[in-house]
Amino acid sequence: MANTGETRRETDEFERLRERVTLADDDREAISVVAPFTGEQVGTIPAGTEADVADAVERARAAGERWAERSPEQRAAVFEAFHELVLDRQAELLDVIQTETGKSRLHAFEEILDVASTAQYYAERGPGLLAPSRREGAIPLATRAEEHHHPVGVVGIISPWNYPLALSISDAIPALLAGNGVVFKPDEHTSFIALKALELLVEAGLPEGLCQIVTGRGDEVGPPLIDRVDYLTFTGSTETGRAVAEQAGRNLIDCSLELGGKNPMLILDDADIDQAVRGAVNGSFTNAGQLCLAAERIYVHETVAEAFTERFVAATEDLSLGVGDDWDIDVGSLVSADHLAKVEAHVEDAREAGATVLAGGEARPDVGPYVYEPTVLTDVPESADCCREETFGPVVSIYEVSSTEEAIEKANDTEYGLNASVFTGDGERGRAVARRIEAGTVGVNDAYAASYGSIDAPMGGRKQSGVGRRHGSGGLLKYTESQTIAEQRTGPMAPPASLPNDWYARLMTGFLRVLKRLP
Ligand code: NAD
Repeated sequence: MANTGETRRETDEFERLRERVTLADDDREAISVVAPFTGEQVGTIPAGTEADVADAVERARAAGERWAERSPEQRAAVFEAFHELVLDRQAELLDVIQTETGKSRLHAFEEILDVASTAQYYAERGPGLLAPSRREGAIPLATRAEEHHHPVGVVGIISPWNYPLALSISDAIPALLAGNGVVFKPDEHTSFIALKALELLVEAGLPEGLCQIVTGRGDEVGPPLIDRVDYLTFTGSTETGRAVAEQAGRNLIDCSLELGGKNPMLILDDADIDQAVRGAVNGSFTNAGQLCLAAERIYVHETVAEAFTERFVAATEDLSLGVGDDWDIDVGSLVSADHLAKVEAHVEDAREAGATVLAGGEARPDVGPYVYEPTVLTDVPESADCCREETFGPVVSIYEVSSTEEAIEKANDTEYGLNASVFTGDGERGRAVARRIEAGTVGVNDAYAASYGSIDAPMGGRKQSGVGRRHGSGGLLKYTESQTIAEQRTGPMAPPASLPNDWYARLMTGFLRVLKRLP
């Protein structure tokens, strides 16, 4: 993929996919899309405008009304078929993901796993979750209460560049299954994978027009989108998330926000060191650390600190760096020159503040224009930017602690609360420590994949890491308006005209007391 022939193939494919962008008219500025493997342009996307957003929302709304008339089972059949298509056509998807993000093939494959599993999970569970259900009525036998779920209308999805397939399509699947139309605003760096996935969704049976994509800049396409949709799903930085939430709040639409993190990993005194090293390598350097769930702080108990650090540094230095579609490359490129500059600045700042670089610490232009070495730091002082700010790159800091209590306290001493992990030889002890960590997901003897991959359970951030959850029943039902219908079989639930009000109050008081005693 790093050679000229491959780049030409991708350029032609991107030219074709560009036709799927919703545009009110053709006269749009072209934004360059650069392949991180080469630093060269592989295509352009149109800079969408407010008119494009208005057009896309209108089309998605019209198509959504017809889609909502299909039963949840009929809608689920599309995602069953999509699951198969994603697995069968994974090579095409992997090529586009790698071209736009520069990640290694293995890390791109995580997105295939996520999207295929999410499609299958909601195809199986969705119809049951969306079915009307009986609820306990106000007065037993006299009140029949039911809960129904209606689609909200049009869901807006604003997604980042780091997992561009998973974080756009896996959130769209439950939104569509719930009977909504969807309008995407993918990140400027990674719009083509959303366009490619949309093509497969249509091939799987999704009606044309139901899902629209408006490409362009965040501050130009985002605000008009939030003004027009009925629900907004945002994944990105905490800073942008705050602006998005303010606008959603003004419009009184519900939203979910999946934001940044500064995720801790705790290595307790009884941890299996080999497992901890494997977990730390995977947790810190997957997707070159450009993973919201990545571990950026490791708290290791002093009794195992030396053994862990030595083996972790050796394992980090053993990782192969590269660009291209070779499955054996461990760590790929960063996404852009700007992002490389941010990662370099964090490491330089830490060095100047007194940190020691145990592994890595250098850019590798000899491998690829935006490649940076997996980097392990220690002695990082409080004054260094990377001590508390998210680096979002292949940089992790080790801190020695003298007790589990200290590790928990330091893990929680952050404004973020997205993900954490605990390594220990005792699962029960690990789960008990996990419950005390202020993070939305905590892995025990695993960095992030076990909790994120448990799609039946909710995933999301606490504190400044987000609002709302994806996955599980809540990840589907948030895209619905719930409605309660209560039929009162004995006529209106109001004091009968024949009964004085004070008698009615006494009667109801007695009734509540009896009700409490009923099994
Ligand atoms: P970002 O906030 O800069 O951009 C995210 C998206 O928002 C992009 O599509 C961008 O175009 C759009 N955007 C920018 N300005 C906007 C505005 N004013 N209104 C509406 N939309 C706007 O984030 P990023 O740098 O692309 O992504 C990295 C961040 O995302 C990291 O902080 C990472 O931790 C976080 N993230 C979180 C999760 C999670 O599940 N919690 C997952 C992946 C990434």
